[in-house]
Amino acid sequence: MPKRIQAIKGTQDVLPPYGDTLRTLENTLLSIAHNYGYSEIRTPVFEPTELFSRGMGGTTDVVQKEMYTFEDKGGRSITLRPEGTAGVVRALLEHGLFNEPMPQKLSYITSCYRYEKPQAGRYREFHQFGVECFGASGPAVDAELIALAAGIFRTLGLTALRLELNSIGCPSCRPAYHAALKKYFAARQDELCPACLERLERNPLRILDCKSPVCAAIAEDAPIGLDYLCGACAEHFDGLKSTLDALEMAYSVNPRIVRGLDYYTKTVFEFVTDTIGAQGTVCGGGRYDGLVTELGGNALPALGFGLGLERLELVLRASGKKTPLPPPCTLYIVPIGEDALCKAAALCEKLRTKGIHAQFDVVGRSVKAQMKYAGKIGALYTAVLGTDDLSAGTVAVKRMADGETQAIALADFVEAFYAKILGCFNHF
Ligand code: ATP
Ligand code: MG
Repeated sequence: MPKRIQAIKGTQDVLPPYGDTLRTLENTLLSIAHNYGYSEIRTPVFEPTELFSRGMGGTTDVVQKEMYTFEDKGGRSITLRPEGTAGVVRALLEHGLFNEPMPQKLSYITSCYRYEKPQAGRYREFHQFGVECFGASGPAVDAELIALAAGIFRTLGLTALRLELNSIGCPSCRPAYHAALKKYFAARQDELCPACLERLERNPLRILDCKSPVCAAIAEDAPIGLDYLCGACAEHFDGLKSTLDALEMAYSVNPRIVRGLDYYTKTVFEFVTDTIGAQGTVCGGGRYDGLVTELGGNALPALGFGLGLERLELVLRASGKKTPLPPPCTLYIVPIGEDALCKAAALCEKLRTKGIHAQFDVVGRSVKAQMKYAGKIGALYTAVLGTDDLSAGTVAVKRMADGETQAIALADFVEAFYAKILGCFNHF
């Protein structure tokens, strides 16, 4: 037998019925975002490499180590998207969405690719629900965006996530902070990991995000960015905090949050939990006022977040929450013989056109085995359809929960099924 091919390390298959659960979850996320004025955008899975190296920043781990980059047959350098924001900004610029009334609020569900060490909560292909909002600079929109993420967790019944906030300033106040960080880390450079030594030269802020325990311990006493904010950034951060207070949202200020990407300005935030092990950041985002210019557009304030769906699923599981499955099969028809099989096919098709989930046996099982299968898929009703029923023109529809039956005329089956079964039984 030919050798079986295995999935690539760090990727995951989604098997039934979880695929349906996931779809329901994704629809919930998109519809909550819709209530905040967000509309869905879809962008390609691969983009020119330069989009990410410029859009995420050359000093980020993602750009330096984690990108899936290859040359295509035309000799172009292509990268599988490692995150959602850069592609959305490219699309905004390419299609002139900046000419539309502001703000532009965009949401998406997207797969992302990063060459990382696979472990629980960290994969090479993962999925993000993300939102991006363009054209609003005041702190009220930062608070609204954070409230959207919190609204998602609330709707899903998750209480184990806490909101951590920081401000990392803007190009006018960051140089002084960089200088202070450089001075602090330079004094302890012998202890830093090789990557942080390079960060010390290129972007000392990145050291605060290093996952090595030694660097993290040194970073504990590093200067705090909030002490270096310019007047405008400090005012923005105060405005954000008072709006969150007005929304009665709990948060803590964590001066260590810098976020993984270079393009953030002012607000950065994370929703974190202790319930899923080391990869506890479920959602991360912030303001990136400099990105649109970095990618060739006119200055446009912007902000967004990315929420990892696999980590969300881990939190849901850890809190014992189940996302609802779509409704199960309403009617399972068990045909006996060829004529009944054709009739079953026709009846199911009619029911489906009316939006009713209906199935019949397509593998030629015995009646007993069909009934067992109907039970397994959780069918709410079954109908055994034999030659006698065809000549009598009626069939008995059985409610699986208690065995109660109703005779339904085959002639106008769909109408009768609606009226006698769905109308009079509370079928859920
Ligand atoms: P981390 O610090 O865990 O590496 P990050 O800062 O690289 O996260 P972002 O780039 O901000 O993460 O991505 C947003 C969200 O996407 C994260 O909060 C997380 O939920 C999810 N995420 C990031 N990388 C992975 C991955 N390799 N596997 C699964 N989910 C991920
Ligand atoms: Mg990362």
